[in-house]
Amino acid sequence: MALYDLLVIGGGINGLGIAADAAARGLSVCIVEKGDWGGGTTSASSRLIHGGLRYLQHGEIDLVRESLKERGTIVRQRPHLVHPISLLIPAYKTAPLPKWMVGVGLGMYHVLARDPLFPAPAPVSFADARKREPGLNPDGLTGGFTYPDAQMEFPERFCVELVQETVAAGGTVRSSTQVVELLAENKRVTGAILCDDLTGETSELRASVTINAAGPWVDVVSRLLPEAARPPRMMGGTWGTHLVLPVRPDTASPTGAIYANARKDGRPFFLLPWDDRLLVGTTDVKYTGDNPDTLEVEPWEIEYLLAETNHLFPGANYVPGDVQTTTCGVRPLPASDKNAGAVTRRHFLVDHGAKHGVHGLASVVGGKLTTYRSLAEEVTDWVLRTLGKTPVLCSTGYVPPDVPTVATLHSATAQTLRRLGLPVSLATGLVKRYGAASADILARVERDPTSGTFVAPNTPCIEAQVVHAAKSEFARTVSDIVRRRLMLFPPTAEAIAGVRRVVQERGLRLDG
Ligand SMILES: Cc1cc2nc3c(=O)[nH]c(=O)nc-3n(C[C@H](O)[C@H](O)[C@H](O)COP(=O)(O)OP(=O)(O)OC[C@H]3O[C@@H](n4cnc5c(N)ncnc54)[C@H](O)[C@@H]3O)c2cc1C
Repeated sequence: MALYDLLVIGGGINGLGIAADAAARGLSVCIVEKGDWGGGTTSASSRLIHGGLRYLQHGEIDLVRESLKERGTIVRQRPHLVHPISLLIPAYKTAPLPKWMVGVGLGMYHVLARDPLFPAPAPVSFADARKREPGLNPDGLTGGFTYPDAQMEFPERFCVELVQETVAAGGTVRSSTQVVELLAENKRVTGAILCDDLTGETSELRASVTINAAGPWVDVVSRLLPEAARPPRMMGGTWGTHLVLPVRPDTASPTGAIYANARKDGRPFFLLPWDDRLLVGTTDVKYTGDNPDTLEVEPWEIEYLLAETNHLFPGANYVPGDVQTTTCGVRPLPASDKNAGAVTRRHFLVDHGAKHGVHGLASVVGGKLTTYRSLAEEVTDWVLRTLGKTPVLCSTGYVPPDVPTVATLHSATAQTLRRLGLPVSLATGLVKRYGAASADILARVERDPTSGTFVAPNTPCIEAQVVHAAKSEFARTVSDIVRRRLMLFPPTAEAIAGVRRVVQERGLRLDG
């Protein structure tokens, strides 16, 4: 039976942030994820690293300040995965907020950020807005504003890096492994029973402290405690859906990022360039279900998001058949009586010892992609205190002075591709997935030139990427590789078959 200082339940961005920080601070850590790393809510988000302009309306200044600070740190630490983007807020006569108020909010946002990497917001005239977005509906348009935020195109790959860091710092990571029971003795949580979904094996794990970081599944996980020790309901999430649409060839669809208000209900929604396509979302509906596993996109959500997109960009004329894929997830928000949009996006650590008399257990309620690092720092500080350990300074906010820029990585990768006789066009996809680790993938091709072969026709991935996923990126199934390592979204049958073939022919060890 394994004995750890810390068991983290849930391998989304928050659980992984905690595991990586705790391992780096010398704790023995095990993190357990029932699916694949980052495959839960983290992969169903709008993929923005943002201060939350909208939170200003609810007076959450501290949250905005913290988020903007974290935005600056993440962009500087991992520029290959997170980059600034400029958003256009088109102003219409029917907008729920007057233009001056939006301008004041953006000014505050900029002052709170005080970050030279993000330029000041700027008002744009009707003509400028149309020049920037020729397809934008001119009816009632009065101009608008541009402002900067940041985009994390692949949070799934961000999570893979956190897994690698956890392991490099001595942590244990187990994906496709579900916590099926929480063990408690005398009102103290002592560990968990795990079930490996791929091998069917069950095992027992003991830990001095357990963190329930299961996102919207936090209540589901706490129901795994013996009845007498179960805390009351903590979560009151809202669910949200995104659509992935093709970009129309003739600027009929957006050419850049847009932050608009829906005509139907005034809700804010985003149209974002994403991996050469368009990510549109989101809805925001109170989640009253018992288990987010059963969540499905509802037909009205597709209609609503398409109608709003078509209203803003009438020439794009999207129809349901254009939808390439959808994502749907529950925001892990605290239980609240407020309407969906008004529930705080702040995070809380619920110490069940202090609150419910059940020691050795705490739950993470809330949290965004953007604040994963500060959340992890706060939780790890708490774990160290609870264990009675000497405090160890957190180093995850440090930005090394020699982080390579995307341009540097691109040029080095392109040079190696040229030398290896591979298409230089692969450089962009490699750098935005692997950053400096693109060199490791190409080193595999250098050692074994056959691994420079494409996985399948029309699939911009080479066999070395599949080998890398199996050997260095903790993938356990073909689906893990296709969806969250190669980021083929949505994957074609050809690509899936190609990856399966590579796994078999190269004798790669996967459990699924
Ligand atoms: C529609 C939508 C849009 C969003 N947009 C943004 C955005 O643009 N920017 C931003 O900063 N934030 C955004 N968010 C919020 C953000 O996505 C989440 O707050 C964040 O991903 C939560 O991460 P997490 O690690 O807490 O949860 P998750 O990513 O859900 O991770 C929890 C993990 O726990 C695992 N788990 C559950 N039960 C068990 C068990 N019994 N055993 C083992 N593992 C288990 C699950 O499989 C899951 O992977 C958005 C959220 C939604 C829903």
